[in-house]
Amino acid sequence: MRKKIIAGNWKMNKTPSETVTLINELKPLVANEEVDVVFCVPAISLTTAIEAAKGSNIEIGAENMYFEENGAFTGEIAPNMLTDIGVKYVIIGHSERREYFAETDETVNKKVLKAFEHGITPIVCCGESLTQREQGITIDWIRQQIKIAFLNVTADQAKTAVIAYEPIWAIGTGKVATTEQAQEVCAAIRVCIGEIYDEATAAAIRIQYGGSVSADSASELFAQADIDGGLVGGASLKPDFGKIVNYNK
Ligand code: PGA
Repeated sequence: MRKKIIAGNWKMNKTPSETVTLINELKPLVANEEVDVVFCVPAISLTTAIEAAKGSNIEIGAENMYFEENGAFTGEIAPNMLTDIGVKYVIIGHSERREYFAETDETVNKKVLKAFEHGITPIVCCGESLTQREQGITIDWIRQQIKIAFLNVTADQAKTAVIAYEPIWAIGTGKVATTEQAQEVCAAIRVCIGEIYDEATAAAIRIQYGGSVSADSASELFAQADIDGGLVGGASLKPDFGKIVNYNK
């Protein structure tokens, strides 16, 4: 049985001092031991967030990292900088990174490999645009994103990975995918992982849905056979995140 994983993606929100306030506010609200709870926060707040989350069930994740070890890459964050302070997860290839910062399936693959090399669990993002959905090429597109993201990743590594299926048209728009749409794509991702690896890997990997998840939509989404939790943007900055994490209560 896969343990659900519910992650907040804070994006470019909250200063380090606001981070402490918000974590202290949310800590009691997200105390659900039945699910893994992750707060992915801006790099500058990672240390503060880890300190603030101590003694709680909250794990801290980064929103991005670079695929080189160190060197002349001004402004980037290396994987060992994350592990050094105790970061356990990293979001890789969010659609905003792809759109505004020129990330590609190839850089996503390099980052995924680097994360595993350093023992950080990647939350690998994929998702189609509205045009692609209307053209009926959603599944083909997602399969291609997954195949490239997991190139040279071993089955043992893939078993521990998290994939976030986030339709771009649903992110920050309030237009959540229907449970049928979300389940259909998450199931197709699991089939794809089964084809790349084997049944055991497909059964182990955790697949989240993301895109306008709210306290109202969470329980139905997370009840689907192939949806193992969510990647939550806007609602992760509010007390509502407690309701999302406690979707099963
Ligand atoms: P949203 O963002 O929940 O605000 O739609 C989700 C995400 O981008 O991860």
